[in-house]
Amino acid sequence: MSNITTDPMVDSVNYQEVERLERMFGDVKLSEIIKRVLKNRPYVCPKCSGSGKVHKYEDEWSPYDMRIVGTKDIILECDLCDGTGRTVQEYVPKKVVTYDGFVLKNLT
Ligand SMILES: [Zn+2]
Repeated sequence: MSNITTDPMVDSVNYQEVERLERMFGDVKLSEIIKRVLKNRPYVCPKCSGSGKVHKYEDEWSPYDMRIVGTKDIILECDLCDGTGRTVQEYVPKKVVTYDGFVLKNLT
């Protein structure tokens, strides 16, 4: 058993992402980066709920007998926020009006 102890919080950090942020912003506080991001993109993306990723589900076909054997979960970059999880402008759900036959006017 190893006697090396590691900090579990630091272990969960994506080192390459931290290095990329340091190259972009220099040696600044994380709160400064957050402030700048919120200024540029103040709204949480409603399509991906801020994750920057969206799921696309497709049928998974058997290569042997061409029948559906399951569902593939494909994770894509969100196209509304370009994978950032935040948007420059505020987006709201688009309303779709459909008509389904007719009813007496007094019942609507
Ligand atoms: Zn998004």
